[in-house]
Amino acid sequence: MQKFNQIFGEGKHPIRTFFAPGRVNLIGDHIDYNGGMVLPAAINLGITAQVRERDDDIIRMRSAMSEKRIEIDLKKAIEYSPSAGWGNYPLGVIRLLQMTKMPIKGADIFFNSTLPIGSGLSSSAAIEVLTGYVLMTLAGFEVDRVAMALLCQKAENEFVGVNCGIMDQFAVAMGKAGHAIQLNCQSLDYQHIPFNIGDFKLVIINSNKERELADSKYNERRASCEKALSLIKEKYDVANLCEAEFPMIMEQVKDPVLLARARHVWWENQYVHEAIEALQDGDWQTLGESMDASHLSLSNDYEVSCDELDILVDAARSVEGCIGARMTGAGFGGCVVALVHEDALTNFTSYVKERYQKNTNLEADVYVCEAVEGVREL
Ligand code: ADP
Ligand code: MG
Repeated sequence: MQKFNQIFGEGKHPIRTFFAPGRVNLIGDHIDYNGGMVLPAAINLGITAQVRERDDDIIRMRSAMSEKRIEIDLKKAIEYSPSAGWGNYPLGVIRLLQMTKMPIKGADIFFNSTLPIGSGLSSSAAIEVLTGYVLMTLAGFEVDRVAMALLCQKAENEFVGVNCGIMDQFAVAMGKAGHAIQLNCQSLDYQHIPFNIGDFKLVIINSNKERELADSKYNERRASCEKALSLIKEKYDVANLCEAEFPMIMEQVKDPVLLARARHVWWENQYVHEAIEALQDGDWQTLGESMDASHLSLSNDYEVSCDELDILVDAARSVEGCIGARMTGAGFGGCVVALVHEDALTNFTSYVKERYQKNTNLEADVYVCEAVEGVREL
């Protein structure tokens, strides 16, 4: 509170605290744009916002992560500006709320984060959904979480200019404690699946590897999938790659690179179904095996892993007590997700960090996580 008053000065309204989690995708990468399902969970690392309502139309924002102050007047149209830096993420959301004529009010907001930024755990979606949730709640509205996720995705796509799918915002808005979310990113059909892994823990390892060329490679992969689909469609009536049967792929896609991409999509889709079934049966051994297989497919056939992620997965899998590990997210850096027995955690952490450091000269961060509720007031 002292820090808040130091930044914004005293005010008569109470300071309220809100939290938005980050998210990790347990399995199902690069199939969201092919009609497949993803399996994210909201995690206990996230962003908090301390907020105080104002009696005018000014919104002032600060983040503990940056010296840059953001200030806007709700009476004027908000525009993207490169100099606003991080502020463009929340500003995009405010702009859309403004355009939908939502009667939001002025506020002072201070963001603080336990979530590593730019590491594939969706700090961008967290700050977006948090901003939308805060402003709607201050204005006295009950938040429609799915609508909010869609609005925030639109803000990131159109205002910030990042071509992201719906998974991140959806998981941040719709997370449920102790559950993962089975989500079809095209139809938005979803179901909460109990994330019961017995004495095992959900562990996230941040490679801290700078993600290079990730955007262009992402677009390249999408284009390959579209090409493979169009070849299959020459003969078969399928809506997307995940609908194609394996023999159709083999028959129609002859180029070895395209075939490898399509093969990943097909297998990854199977692994997601296998993982969901395993979770429902409390069969975490099979869940772990699906994660291992998924990593190999992402690394060998889809080629979106990198040395750093492969080294981390390898190190993780060589520790007794780890029953599955895979890269998670778009790839080329970012994080690895693993299932580790609680008795092995100390050993796991020190071994993985040491081996990673020796092989890459980089420091890995290891987080033991839980599946938590989506955005909320604390
Ligand atoms: P990811 O979503 O994987 O963490 P992105 O590159 O999509 O990575 O988004 C990271 C960007 O989101 C940051 O560069 C910053 O602009 C913004 N951001 C995220 N968290 C915060 C925060 N706590 N404070 C300020 N800006 C943040
Ligand atoms: Mg992001």
